[in-house]
Amino acid sequence: MNITRNAGANILQDESAKPNVAQPSSESLLIVDDNPDNRDMLARRLKRAGYGVAEAENGPDALRLIAEQNFTLVLLDIMMPGMSGIEVLKTVRTEHSPSKLPVIMVSALTESNEVAEALNLGANDYITKPLDFPVAIARIKMQVTRKRSEEAIRKSEERYALAAKGANEGLWDWDIAANHIEYSPEWKAILGYENDSIGDSTEAWFSRIHEEDRIRVESDLSSSLADKQQSQFVSEYRIQHKSRDYRWAVSRATIVRSPEGAPIRIVGSLTDITKTKAFDTLTGLPNRLLFVEDLSDVVRDCASKPLKRFALLFLDLDRFKIVNDSLGHVIGDRLLEQVSRRLEGSIRLSKEREKPDKVARFGLARFGGDEFAILLSEIKDPNDAVLVAMRVLDRIRAPFQLDNREVFINVSIGIAIGDSLYESPTEILRDADTAMYRAKSAGGGRYHVFDEAMRTDAQERLELENDLRQAIQNRELTPFFQPKVELKTGNVIGFEVLLRWHHPKFGEISPGKFIPIAEETGLIVPIGAWVLEQACHKIQQWQNKFTIDPPLTMAVNVSVKQLLHPEFLATVRRVLAETAIPPSSLSLEITESVVFQESANVIHILDSLKELGIHLEVDDFGTGYSSLNRLDRYPFDSIKIDRSFVARMGTDKRSEDIIQGIVSLAKMLHLGLVAEGIEDGKNAELLASIGCTHGQGYYFSKAIAANEIELELEKHQSSGTWQPGKVLSDRP
Ligand code: C2E
Ligand code: MG
Ligand code: MG
Repeated sequence: MNITRNAGANILQDESAKPNVAQPSSESLLIVDDNPDNRDMLARRLKRAGYGVAEAENGPDALRLIAEQNFTLVLLDIMMPGMSGIEVLKTVRTEHSPSKLPVIMVSALTESNEVAEALNLGANDYITKPLDFPVAIARIKMQVTRKRSEEAIRKSEERYALAAKGANEGLWDWDIAANHIEYSPEWKAILGYENDSIGDSTEAWFSRIHEEDRIRVESDLSSSLADKQQSQFVSEYRIQHKSRDYRWAVSRATIVRSPEGAPIRIVGSLTDITKTKAFDTLTGLPNRLLFVEDLSDVVRDCASKPLKRFALLFLDLDRFKIVNDSLGHVIGDRLLEQVSRRLEGSIRLSKEREKPDKVARFGLARFGGDEFAILLSEIKDPNDAVLVAMRVLDRIRAPFQLDNREVFINVSIGIAIGDSLYESPTEILRDADTAMYRAKSAGGGRYHVFDEAMRTDAQERLELENDLRQAIQNRELTPFFQPKVELKTGNVIGFEVLLRWHHPKFGEISPGKFIPIAEETGLIVPIGAWVLEQACHKIQQWQNKFTIDPPLTMAVNVSVKQLLHPEFLATVRRVLAETAIPPSSLSLEITESVVFQESANVIHILDSLKELGIHLEVDDFGTGYSSLNRLDRYPFDSIKIDRSFVARMGTDKRSEDIIQGIVSLAKMLHLGLVAEGIEDGKNAELLASIGCTHGQGYYFSKAIAANEIELELEKHQSSGTWQPGKVLSDRP
């Protein structure tokens, strides 16, 4: 055996190739010839033309090399001692088809019979000795190109076969010269279209690519096409489905080129990788899956390092649902995108301090909906996390410009500090979530750091949830009643029913604590119906006992969950029928934030209630997502000024101004006014003087039990008026 070995390899790239020749390619040729001079000369020319070359001096060596290596093409001498070229060819063709391993016969001019036989046996071409090198090289090149093209087509055919199996892969075949593209039915199906409902144009594809990805995909494609060495194209991007939302897709393609290297055709696939894609399509941020994966790494890493600390920040936008419902989903989406960019901005500083190789994956994720999470994989002390939280709060607080309007949104942040005691990502996520919940129930727009006490709180909450289910049957719930007075006279005109829960183990639990639990669990529906019944029965009795004109009123708080419940109207009708009270003496209080859920449904229900003759009030006015001009679209009769403004009246000029503003607004819209939470007489007087007609608060009376109300009513029965607390005119 005599194989030329250069640099210890059979396949040789000629390092000394002259600069004006073709680029070294990965194509490797095998020269089979018994004459070393012939081999040597041809080998040198081919290397100069950029091919890798191996040599064999006889048939058996050639077959062995072919079995061992992956040659692009074989140059096979016909006339050799021992095993002839024809015999070698026969054996080769039992294993390798002409398209898989092209063979070019090298013959003497006199061997035309053998050439014919070889061509019949599957030789691809022949060249004659003495060799005309330019012709030989051109023929070799042609065979190589043909082989590559056929491979490309075969691959695409294989893809077709694959695509027929999996519906999440589609195919496209783009004839570049004719600028004609064809998509397979599967390709169209991935985007949600029927076979004939999408055109055969490149625009049908590119126009659907997400605007942030399109330029990148197009320039990747054109540079792949321009690079003659490039036979593959791969690109990932977001593409719009018929449903208008974006899917993550990957396109993999093979470029078929002319012998000169010009792209002729590009054949490829389209695969929907949304599920496997670890990024959120809307914001481009890592999604929950990827984040939790990273978090697991950090938790695991920390388990063995008792001194290491990390932090998890769990974020939830405040009142996002209201923005989304009132401004529409398109704006809601844009807001989420802008929030993401601001979050990125606020954690960039801290990310830089982390290990740079981790920066790409660590940090920020969208958890779904309006939830985000931040992972600080290494912190020195909890303050690092608090600083990030403060920066986030600061950035989110600034108004967002959406559709030519300013939108304000807040975020609640729960922080959990990770140490070696955490065993799984679930545990720390749960704690950060608990802390977030705490921040939210404290009014939102703030952060809260998880501590041990909260773990107990979370357990207690779970316990409360279970106990609340039994509370009605166990007679632990009691309606209390707070008098509502006319400020000018101090006379009681009605009541607001406020629920009290006496828990066998925890004692008195405030509605501020259990009403949200009731709302979340849906228990508010039966509980609310029960409160309504109790309150209406009481007011029926009291109206009989205490006959004044207009009759005493009863206000009942209604949560949005109750309002939207399909049975709600029927329940109200039933209770009104059972008690026969004038509908106008029943008032329903609905918290301001609910009002601005611009769902046609809410307005519809309110209209129906209004038709029954019921009085409707906006509760906690001034705290919600105020858009005052909306108010006149709703059938409200009066506004309750939130007690936080009333409480700050004496000390804070701004609160007074806000109240003044609400009073003017109410007058303009012909709405009644009630101030809640009046705790001292000075404020009562001030409120009356600026035009607020009614009030409630500890200054007059706290919410008290029904029997206490009855005692008072009896006491004042003869006078026909009841003036709880100090009457305004009594004061100096
Ligand atoms: P709300 O409807 O705004 O009720 C007024 C709250 O302010 C009551 O708290 C009341 O006790 C308190 N309050 C009244 N006067 C004063 C005052 O002078 N100073 C201060 N600091 N507070 C005063 P409560 O009873 O804890 O109720 C809290 C909230 O729970 C209520 O706010 C209401 O939204 C909800 N709620 C209570 N009962 C029910 C119910 O039966 N159904 C529903 N859906 N929600 C209820
Ligand atoms: Mg109320
Ligand atoms: Mg209120």
